[in-house]
Amino acid sequence: MKDNYLIDAREIAADLTAFMQDIIRIPSLSSQEGAVIARIREEMQKLDYDEVTIDPMGNLIGRIGCGARVIALDGHTDTVDVGDPSLWDRNPFSGDVEDGILYGRGSSDMKGGVASSVYAGGLVRKRGIPDDVTLLVTATVQEEDCDGLCWQYIANEDGIRPELVCITEPTSLRVYRGHRGRMEMEVHTSGLSCHGSAPERGINAVYKMANIIADIEALNERLEPREPLGKGTVTISEIRSTSPSLCAVADGCTIHLDRRLTIGETEATSVAEIESLPSVQAAQATVTVLDYAVPSYTDLTYPTRKYYPTWETPVDHGGVRAALAAHQMAFGEEAELGFWVFSTNAVATAGMLGIPTIGFGPGHEKFAHAPNEQVEIEHLIRSAAFYTALVDAFAKH
Ligand SMILES: [Zn+2]
Repeated sequence: MKDNYLIDAREIAADLTAFMQDIIRIPSLSSQEGAVIARIREEMQKLDYDEVTIDPMGNLIGRIGCGARVIALDGHTDTVDVGDPSLWDRNPFSGDVEDGILYGRGSSDMKGGVASSVYAGGLVRKRGIPDDVTLLVTATVQEEDCDGLCWQYIANEDGIRPELVCITEPTSLRVYRGHRGRMEMEVHTSGLSCHGSAPERGINAVYKMANIIADIEALNERLEPREPLGKGTVTISEIRSTSPSLCAVADGCTIHLDRRLTIGETEATSVAEIESLPSVQAAQATVTVLDYAVPSYTDLTYPTRKYYPTWETPVDHGGVRAALAAHQMAFGEEAELGFWVFSTNAVATAGMLGIPTIGFGPGHEKFAHAPNEQVEIEHLIRSAAFYTALVDAFAKH
């Protein structure tokens, strides 16, 4: 069965592309999304959404319909920085289109998903939304800095809890249903400073850390792969120490750990695993999970721990079935299933809040955070068609 979703989406391709170029041309680092959010709001209003609101954190929420069953299409509006400009072949904010490919920072991660979902709202508007369904298109903030924080706010403070969330990050037009989680920890050792000319009088906190570093490197090798997400990892991303002077014994040493979590690995298991290392016990080192508390562009601070849980939606879940049906309805063929390598806002929707979540989006994960970031215009069109079909498939599942 192939409906006219794709035909309808092709008809709006020029407007969709022009809108995508506009939002690529507005830089939007995390906590600086105000201008791009204003531009997206204008487009939602033009497309005749029933209601368009900006919450106190600065998340934009467009609504179509008012049925009891709520489905949300989520895309974050912030991007990472340009990096070394000499690695780019063109201006990162040009929004140039050449041979059907649109270039610019955020084209893959993930203004493409934002543009396609905003236009899917317009298509749903024209087509008519099923009576018992509400579609929310959320254009959210601060994801690159703290994935999921926006959805902790939307669920816990705005009081919005959809029945299904579709994350529109790049999936190369596959249906994704999970990814590894992550967390950030610090391990700290304390010493006793003394004059550097007589180190035997003191206790060097850096030497106490040396065995811990070796144990963590070995721990990473030991972590077991677990299907379907593979192996968790741990790596040291930073080391720093304190001392009263460069001519004294170090009295404190801290390492920063980037821990990626697979199925079954949680904040509690990961902290316990580090605390039980023989070197950590011998050094009486402390393990701390870090906090995130950076103000949004509206100057709202919503602190959270830097723990982003692993999630997986089962293949036989109604949400995955709706996505597979939507793919059939839009393209007349079977979807490929998969998982993201990187992390998304689903750490909150699925991982923390237990809201069934799936993923589908334009562009390829490999271009995220890379120079010459790009997305196919065809992907934007197909994603808009898919999201429109998803609303109808959701109504039936
Ligand atoms: Zn992203």
